[in-house]
Amino acid sequence: MSYVDEVLARVKEKNASEPEFLQAVEEVLDSLRPVIEANEEKYRKEALLERLTEPDRQIKFRVPWVDDKGQVQVNTGYRVQFNNAIGPYKGGLRLHPSVNIGIIKFLGFEQIFKNSLTGLPIGGGKGGSDFDPKGKSDREVMAFCQSFITELYKYIGADVDVPAGDIGTGAREIGYMYGQYKRITGLYEGVLTGKGLTFGGSLARTEATGYGLLYITRELMKCHGMDMKDKICCVSGSGNVAIYAAQKAQQMGAKVVTVSDSTGWIYDPEGIDVELLKEVKEVKRARLTEYAAARKSAEYHEGRGVWQIKCDIALPCATQNELHLEDAKQLAANGCKAVCEGANMPTTLEATKYLQDNGVLFICGKASNAGGVATSALEMTQNSERLSWTFEEVDAKLEQIMVNIYHNIDDAAKRYGMEGNYVAGANIAGFEKVANAMLAQGVC
Ligand code: GLU
Repeated sequence: MSYVDEVLARVKEKNASEPEFLQAVEEVLDSLRPVIEANEEKYRKEALLERLTEPDRQIKFRVPWVDDKGQVQVNTGYRVQFNNAIGPYKGGLRLHPSVNIGIIKFLGFEQIFKNSLTGLPIGGGKGGSDFDPKGKSDREVMAFCQSFITELYKYIGADVDVPAGDIGTGAREIGYMYGQYKRITGLYEGVLTGKGLTFGGSLARTEATGYGLLYITRELMKCHGMDMKDKICCVSGSGNVAIYAAQKAQQMGAKVVTVSDSTGWIYDPEGIDVELLKEVKEVKRARLTEYAAARKSAEYHEGRGVWQIKCDIALPCATQNELHLEDAKQLAANGCKAVCEGANMPTTLEATKYLQDNGVLFICGKASNAGGVATSALEMTQNSERLSWTFEEVDAKLEQIMVNIYHNIDDAAKRYGMEGNYVAGANIAGFEKVANAMLAQGVC
């Protein structure tokens, strides 16, 4: 049995109840085959893949808090510190009822390669809780965040592990967490990113994941002889990534005609009104039905269905496994030219394969959504030098990072004879740096 198959079998046996984690490991190891085969004896002796697929540590803790009725509620908190070979653990905190250890491990594993691809010195980690901020008062969210940090503060630090936002964790949550960390430790340090602009946050961090997604998409299109002008884009999701992806796509001259949330989706043939979307989602924290109610050209549909709309570019920006095989078939049949992931692992393995085999350009999230964490690393840099850069400075760096990522993954795929396979390219380019660092640092 090859070393990759051996490790895959072991990982499956050890983590049988964690399907998302297994999916992420399978995708990565499968596409690393040519690299591993070229170094099989050495990597096997060093147990490199066993070490890469086993987190440095997994922290799980109780998060008790009091709701507005005076009732004590209990949630579970997680932080998976996966790999710090190239820098302090870095990755977001997801607050969503679906969160469990398998989800956090998949996200933490992806983060290792994504963070490596940014070219910046950050390791991989992820955390979160099954707490649902939806429908909670500000006071309840604060009570949860304070309790969460009261336990997590022991394990994080500006040079140790730097959490950030993810689904359910935005500026409000990061602010409450930062305040509690500061209160307990007495430290005013860059322990979290995505902070408010008045206390160490970076300009352009809010926009970074969505903007970065469009910078890499434009580069992909350009290198295939196409531009963004008048392209029809389907976006899924309506959170931070989707909103700023839509905004940047429209600034580039494309037309975004869809967005979605957990209960339904919008088709707006005139183009999504990003300001209205921001008002509904960021200010009112309301459902998309409110968007439809306020805009004549918008149709609201229950359930899922974004991918049936004919488009040139599909940008899945909602959550994992939201683009299935049937969706991939529909997109390809409709003449879609490119799918670039804004969310983490939104496309299933079968759907990815179908797109790749049927001439649809495909960039996986660990490359195409790396702009968020890259800008978090720029926030860390600004915190360390106690300076803040202008929006234009940060945005220009972000754009350069995304263009570099595209060319690095393109080159890596070509080096191993897999031209155009950006999944393999991303996994290989991300892996090489981490593997070199791990080997240089000895058995640890
Ligand atoms: N949650 C984001 C991601 O999936 C950002 C993480 C960060 O900024 O640390 O990459």
